[in-house]
Amino acid sequence: MWKVPLFDTSFDEREIEAVQNVIRSGWLTMGEVTQEFESRFAEFLGVKHAIAVCNGTAALHLANMALGIGPGDEVICPSLTFVAGANSVSYTGARPVFADIDSENNLCISPQDIEKKITQKTRAIQVMHYAGYPCDMGQIRQIAKTHKLYIIEDCAHAPGAKYSGKYCGTIGDIGCFSFFSNKNMTTGEGGLVTTNDDKIAEKIRLMRSHGMTTLTWDRARGHAFSYDVVEAGFNYRIDEIRSAIGLVQMEKLQDNNTSRKELVRLYRERLGRMRGIEIPFANTFGVSSYHILPALLKTNINRHDFMGYLKDHGIQTSIHYPPIHRFDYYRRIFGNNNMLSVTEEIAKREVTLPLYPSMKSDDVNYVVDKINDFLKTEGN
Ligand SMILES: *Cc1c(COP(=O)(O)O)cnc(C)c1O
Repeated sequence: MWKVPLFDTSFDEREIEAVQNVIRSGWLTMGEVTQEFESRFAEFLGVKHAIAVCNGTAALHLANMALGIGPGDEVICPSLTFVAGANSVSYTGARPVFADIDSENNLCISPQDIEKKITQKTRAIQVMHYAGYPCDMGQIRQIAKTHKLYIIEDCAHAPGAKYSGKYCGTIGDIGCFSFFSNKNMTTGEGGLVTTNDDKIAEKIRLMRSHGMTTLTWDRARGHAFSYDVVEAGFNYRIDEIRSAIGLVQMEKLQDNNTSRKELVRLYRERLGRMRGIEIPFANTFGVSSYHILPALLKTNINRHDFMGYLKDHGIQTSIHYPPIHRFDYYRRIFGNNNMLSVTEEIAKREVTLPLYPSMKSDDVNYVVDKINDFLKTEGN
């Protein structure tokens, strides 16, 4: 339907074969394939524990739970992100407190604003590496240390991104990944939690599966006959089919991220010559995973018309994101007294352009040509 879609998967025969192998094996939920997926992911990131779950939102919920966050607590998080970030705090009964993003160049959470939002009730900072560009983790870690706060990294955009030689998801206390269909590596629905802390990992493993002390897998192998329940846990398990897809996708991740990087370079080179549109993250902290390509329109350009024009030419675009503090639920429950001037301003001007590993340079050129045509008719 689209000439150039917003994203595309990178599946081939290998994923199909991996799924067939699981179905033939007859063991469908958390077992050997999931264990292998977890250990390979942990090895890739250089982290002690990787715990696969059913989606990225479950990963974030488990992260907050494992840190003991609950009613009366506050967690500082960005508003310019997917709503799952703040929802995962709300699930625990704690209050998400929104901090502004840094600037037009850096759409990640602002360390200065984090500091301003700290109160007696603050327990954690939840950061999101927007579009795969690492947050200013040096400053954020310093703030966390000074105020004795935990750091949760929402790495939904950032598998393979690096800050100061360390992979995102290994810098804070807990990293949360999503393998939703449009992410850099996907299992359809899926997620994963990373940590170097044994106690946190143990808690997350328990909470992932009803708070039960043994798994079906262990009992099936005769390693255990019964179990106890030590927490009111959830069923946030992943299945073997998705773990099998994840193993194949992981092998493709670095090449795919390199393809994304090359496409972003081309976009930047061509769009950089145009007035009317800018690409943020000209200066970055560390190495990006280039999850999406955010562009900012100049204030005189009508975003609705811009997106409509591209749609008429078969180009799919999106907005990342409608800010969370503006949603009805968050206004009703938490009030609308947040001063997030940069977030408000950027959220009005942001448009996400197509980006996926199999995209051709001709596709980029086509998108850029159409943008150029539109901006010219607008007198830019
Ligand atoms: C996709 C995404 C999530 C949620 O992941 P799901 O797997 O869809 O539950 C959370 N945060 C961000 C920034 C995301 O992009």
